[in-house]
Amino acid sequence: MGRAKAFSLLSGGLDSLLATRLIMDQGIEVIGLHFITPFFGYSKKGQESSFTERWRDLYGVQTRIIDVGEEYLQVVRHPRYGYGKNFNPCIDCKIFLFSKAKALMGEEKADFLVTGEVLGQRPMSQRRDTLRIVERDSGTEGVLLRPLCAKNLKPARPELMGLVDREKLLDFRGRSRKPQMKLAEEMGLRHYPSPSGGCLLTDPVLGNRIRRHFSQSPNITVNDLLLLQVGRHFQFSNGQHLVVGRREEENQKLIELWHEGDVFLKVKAIPGPLGLIRGKADPPALLLAASIVAHYSKAKEREVVEVQYGTAPGELNELLHVPPVQDDQIAPLRF
Ligand code: SF4
Repeated sequence: MGRAKAFSLLSGGLDSLLATRLIMDQGIEVIGLHFITPFFGYSKKGQESSFTERWRDLYGVQTRIIDVGEEYLQVVRHPRYGYGKNFNPCIDCKIFLFSKAKALMGEEKADFLVTGEVLGQRPMSQRRDTLRIVERDSGTEGVLLRPLCAKNLKPARPELMGLVDREKLLDFRGRSRKPQMKLAEEMGLRHYPSPSGGCLLTDPVLGNRIRRHFSQSPNITVNDLLLLQVGRHFQFSNGQHLVVGRREEENQKLIELWHEGDVFLKVKAIPGPLGLIRGKADPPALLLAASIVAHYSKAKEREVVEVQYGTAPGELNELLHVPPVQDDQIAPLRF
């Protein structure tokens, strides 16, 4: 029999790195699959090779980035097992990602699948019953191995088949991070990734903004979701969104996210943010958006401000004259 091969689901955090390394240390070839969506890992989009190099150089781990953004939107919209504390559909998320990894196993002739889950670490998705549900619904029964807590679970098939030595697996349990820190030290891992994981769906403010957007828009896109993560957001009575950059890099991000039909606004000749209207930019929406953009500019104290607008970033050829919106008018428009 040749050398065994496994896929590992790399969240980008410490636990899945440790699980990966534990299995590599048994002489098994492991490829880390790092799934990205607009809610987690998306900053690596377009930066795949630097991520791959970084993980190879720092941790000795082979990785592959897989963008599942479009399909993942359905998971967030209709999670069978509901949401966690915020807008995080953790159980369905895992079912989806595990089944994606399972589908790749056949192509690559991987023998089993590794995750960094720890029994009892998270209230919703790492209870004994939910670990079982995830396995069952993702079709990964018999191929899934959780090396960090394997000794607290019944032997998994890769152990029974002799692909993995159970004695070298661990019995982590609960929320404490100390055993992970200690193991990282023993493995000589420095600069390891932060434990938080960074999923925006668990963020109370952003999660709520994303939830509202899902409830209002039947055809939400990846681009819409990326836009929700930039700048200040306002919503007008006909459903239009105005986004106002808070810093130069956010203005730049708005330009990158531009798509057909969007309208840009900017105060003329005075420093101020870029605004972007998504949705029907009718005259009332344009006037209101212009007065909000003026409010956040250096011309805020003027009675009337000139605001340029246009349908492409470099073509703000139209002009409006508006008073900056007052502080007390802003709050009800916040999204
Ligand atoms: S925190 Fe986010 S990425 Fe992690 S399982 Fe939950 S929904 Fe998925």
